[in-house]
Amino acid sequence: MVTEPTFRPLNPDAADLVPDGLFEASELARFARPAHKSGAEPTALLERLTTHRGTLVPGHTYLDTIGTCRICERPGGGFRAPLCAQTLTYCHRCLAVAVDGLPNMAATLTRATARATVAVRALADDEFGGAAFVESQLSTIHADPQLPVLPADIDRRLLLRIAITRGQLPWTHILIDAGLADNGVRLSRGTVLKAADGHLCLSLQEKSGRRLLRPLRHRSHARTPVPVRQTVEP
Ligand SMILES: [Zn+2]
Repeated sequence: MVTEPTFRPLNPDAADLVPDGLFEASELARFARPAHKSGAEPTALLERLTTHRGTLVPGHTYLDTIGTCRICERPGGGFRAPLCAQTLTYCHRCLAVAVDGLPNMAATLTRATARATVAVRALADDEFGGAAFVESQLSTIHADPQLPVLPADIDRRLLLRIAITRGQLPWTHILIDAGLADNGVRLSRGTVLKAADGHLCLSLQEKSGRRLLRPLRHRSHARTPVPVRQTVEP
């Protein structure tokens, strides 16, 4: 007897768009389409009512047609938007998880932070000119209407957003580990820098002090994660 997989993977075209290993199989199962579901929900109504499409793609025009979600291949609503010259179709579920990010079901930040670091680096290059950005900037897909992108580019930007759990990750660590803050991250309280031993320090003075102190004695200086999201300039 052949055992069917409980969950199907991503649409193969979409899966090829993201860095290898970005999603583990158990993570894909949280948003890829369950193979056993028949799709009996009121799809047209849910697609029409979702607010997540407007959050991610302001100024879009909903076409009120049901096609196939480009990410998970569930039924999804079609729309047009200035950032892409072609009709786009994403289901309300994929749009929702792109807005919220995957939930941290494992209840440990280690895996979620590693996944987010890869996704933040890729998004910075794709969408933010290689510069650091804050978590709140993920809510809207940024693109120049004068330079429309391909549907596959939107697929990738949504998938990378899905990979980033929201509201609980150490954003400063992620920016530094992604190579987006080599000169520190500027905050209202000072500049956060990564000391040679990997800990975060809150100022240049503190960093130089650590460099001086370290040969004399080894001391623990774990710092409470600094809330960075609202204070770093785009
Ligand atoms: Zn979908």
